[in-house]
Amino acid sequence: MESLVQDTIETRVHSILEKIRSAAEKAGRPVGAVRLVAATKTVAIQSIREGVQAGLSILGENRVQEALTKIPVFTHDPIQWHFIGQLQRRKVRSVIGVFDLIHSVDSVALAQEIDRRAGEAGRRQDVLLEVNIGDEPTKAGFRPDEVRQAVSDMTRLSHVCIKGLMAIPPPTVDASSARPYFRKLKELANMIKAQRFPSVKMDELSMGMSNDYEVAIEEGATLVRIGTAIFGARHG
Ligand SMILES: *Cc1c(COP(=O)(O)O)cnc(C)c1O
Repeated sequence: MESLVQDTIETRVHSILEKIRSAAEKAGRPVGAVRLVAATKTVAIQSIREGVQAGLSILGENRVQEALTKIPVFTHDPIQWHFIGQLQRRKVRSVIGVFDLIHSVDSVALAQEIDRRAGEAGRRQDVLLEVNIGDEPTKAGFRPDEVRQAVSDMTRLSHVCIKGLMAIPPPTVDASSARPYFRKLKELANMIKAQRFPSVKMDELSMGMSNDYEVAIEEGATLVRIGTAIFGARHG
């Protein structure tokens, strides 16, 4: 029989939160080990509002300008903002103190600029390093074989706190084909963790999107970034 449950942002949020919970449980991971980051690029305020009322607590934005217009609208809501898009060095100054976590640090130079600006503001900025896990020529991120050295170079930056890794695997025909990439990111994180760099944590793995987040959770994701499955297809 066809489901009578209406397809709304609210029902999608509830269903995704339930799927996240059950994927974590199936993988023998504690409830709460995986957090949902709703990818809200191009999404209208009213739709984001519906999502927040349905239980979204972390919103991920890709563009600084767009984020800065949305954030003030939600100052009275208990939500965190994460930056998940490519960050230009000249925009760093305007993101310090605004985002709880930057997922997408893709060069040592960017980390240095974050360190400098966070230092000026008297803050420490939590970041993840983005890894080009499929070694794709046109994609942002550190090559897998560069990450260890990059982390080593960044340990001197006292206003940047490295919390883990992020990746966007190459497009795959189905979710399970993305599994080797997720596994590789986890192995990379474990390898770096074993080096015991001072003040470097490797506890966060930001991986998995609308089409493959359950597989990513099975492979150890702690943050899944989901847009389309919550808000529908993006326009523009
Ligand atoms: C848009 C976006 C997502 C979400 O993608 P969907 O396929 O819509 O779930 C995740 N991560 C990043 C970096 C994005 O830009």
